[in-house]
Amino acid sequence: MANVYNWQLGRAMTYPFAPGLLTHQFGAVFNINRCIGCQTCTMACKSTWTFSKGQELMWWNNVESKPFGGYPHFWDSKLLSLLGPQPGWTGTPTASAPFGQYTGRTIFEAAPTDAAALGYLPDDLEWISPNIYEDTTSGSPTQTGGIWDGASLPEHKIFFFYLQRICNHCTYPACVAACPRKAIYKREEDGVVLIDQKRCRGYRKCVEACPYKKPMFRPTTGTSEKCIGCYPRLEEGATTRCISACVGKIRLFGWVDDPQSPIHYLVKQEQVALPLYPQFGTEPNVYYIPPRWVPLSYLHQMFGPGVEAALEKYRNPSWELLGVLQLFGATQTILASYEVTATHAIGYDEAGNEAIRVAIEDELVVRPEQHLNIT
Ligand code: SF4
Ligand code: SF4
Repeated sequence: MANVYNWQLGRAMTYPFAPGLLTHQFGAVFNINRCIGCQTCTMACKSTWTFSKGQELMWWNNVESKPFGGYPHFWDSKLLSLLGPQPGWTGTPTASAPFGQYTGRTIFEAAPTDAAALGYLPDDLEWISPNIYEDTTSGSPTQTGGIWDGASLPEHKIFFFYLQRICNHCTYPACVAACPRKAIYKREEDGVVLIDQKRCRGYRKCVEACPYKKPMFRPTTGTSEKCIGCYPRLEEGATTRCISACVGKIRLFGWVDDPQSPIHYLVKQEQVALPLYPQFGTEPNVYYIPPRWVPLSYLHQMFGPGVEAALEKYRNPSWELLGVLQLFGATQTILASYEVTATHAIGYDEAGNEAIRVAIEDELVVRPEQHLNIT
């Protein structure tokens, strides 16, 4: 066992392996506020990687409607119940512990003696209907004095939102920790987590241990498979299929630990994007700008204690944040660095060449009176 530092928890924890030195760490930010639930990302992934026999129920990218949707069904509420109530974060935030210290137990610390992590193996029925409870709200609206209740800001009493999910290519992956065959590894060049298909014997320990339920079993090969972070595209300097296909331009790819990267700015500097269930302890590397209209208690459980500050930044964005938000979905090139000027956001590729330039404010065009379409 190694003693490792998890910045999302603001403290050290034990993990079976000491972290290797990475050149880059795969990272992405998904802006939930912009997602329209069109599933273009889902189909872009499926038609690229999981269209073969035995992969019918494999959805490496899925978009579920919260609070009730999930794939596999109720994956998060089931694990939260197993983990039980936990005390949460305390203490003053610092640079290395921006949310304070998590005082509860992670899935590694709550593991039964015969397992690397606390988890469960979903049964077959939980892997069908990937988009169950689509657009289902948390309750039913009522009418008071002729006015529909439940949908006024800052928090809608009745809500739903789309949660976009891929493998988080975690810094401390539970799938890696749990594999008895050492078939799962994290790539040094980009932090992508892969299952070696030759070593895997299909014991499904990764399926059981991954808190996000992203490894999936393939009956035709008897092995587990998972999101490969579109590594052949990353090697060519291009973003993943789900990110480049996104219609709502809600997704941005980059290297989390590189201070020049727009992802580093959003996650570490501005802290407007937050990890999904950081209390699980795997240090996931997909980050979310939380939805503005959802009750804070729900968001706290899902994204930790940084929610209020993140929402405040998003509601009143600095010029730099406004600029970086324009880079979402603007290019398929991986942006290694960026610049925000008085008028434009500019993204640069690994070689420092300009890859994209986007105006921060569109020119306001006023329709001349003779062309007005109302009288
Ligand atoms: S999300 Fe799950 S499958 Fe992906 S790296 Fe983390 S633990 Fe492994
Ligand atoms: S393609 Fe983009 S907008 Fe459409 S569901 Fe996926 S993440 Fe949301």
